[in-house]
Amino acid sequence: MSDLPPIREVIQRHGLAASKALGQNFLLDEQLLARIAALPGDLAGAQVLEVGPGPGGLTRALLRAGARVTAIEMDRRCLPALAELGESFPGQLTIIEGDALKLDHNAVMLGAPFHVLSNLPYNVGTALFVRWLSGESWPPLWQSLTLMFQREVAMRIVAAAGDDAYGRLAVLAQWRSDARLAMKVHRSAFTPPPKVMSAVVHVTSAAMPEGVSARTLERLTEAAFGQRRKMLRQSLKGVPGALDALAALGIDETRRAETVSVAEFVALARALGCRQS
Ligand code: SAM
Repeated sequence: MSDLPPIREVIQRHGLAASKALGQNFLLDEQLLARIAALPGDLAGAQVLEVGPGPGGLTRALLRAGARVTAIEMDRRCLPALAELGESFPGQLTIIEGDALKLDHNAVMLGAPFHVLSNLPYNVGTALFVRWLSGESWPPLWQSLTLMFQREVAMRIVAAAGDDAYGRLAVLAQWRSDARLAMKVHRSAFTPPPKVMSAVVHVTSAAMPEGVSARTLERLTEAAFGQRRKMLRQSLKGVPGALDALAALGIDETRRAETVSVAEFVALARALGCRQS
């Protein structure tokens, strides 16, 4: 299994010229791919969901790490290359042709816990990220998310209150998960290189704070960051009970959303209960 052909050769042999429409920027550096695959820890025997394997660079790193990989790819041109890779790792790779945005991932993984690793087009990656982190049901079936993002988006995910990049995405990623910037990746690592720099974010789920509705928290951050330059007394005016909750918690209503910590948003959501659902 160590004598796989270089990915560049696989791409050439299967005619996988990168498609702009599908947001394809491939990673060919096997050392870099092995480092990304190592971020969740020991994957020997673990179930992994990979979204957008393309020609299979990250996939082969995951298979070499001993993972059992289910890969969802919507570009059918990539399927023969992936099938060939699967033959080198018997029983370890399941390929699903389809749009990951339209599939129920828990069902795809047959209800068993899994790690997610993915290098996706940035718009698809953000949509899936929000989906994986949303909903009332917690803990999620996924154990960790290891995802490549445009560097600005990665900074928004790990930002703290007071940072320019702090906003809804940070609260979503941090209120019941731990999110860290695991690796910066230069644009030149991709073929073809995208215009922007990238970074890998690693997220693990944490305990859900008691007495907090995800929907209420979402409603609060939507209102607060919808008018992020306004004072809370203005931006939260339309959220029933929010101004009373600010007063009860001693949060100054002249502050702006960008200064309100994740813990303060959680406390506010708890004070509001499920009224916003
Ligand atoms: N993982 C490979 C790598 O690192 O070299 C390919 C990365 S490329 C940026 C993104 C891949 O995601 C492409 O193969 C593309 O066809 C696939 N893709 C794009 N949108 C998708 C979707 N909605 N569902 C599944 N795959 C998708």
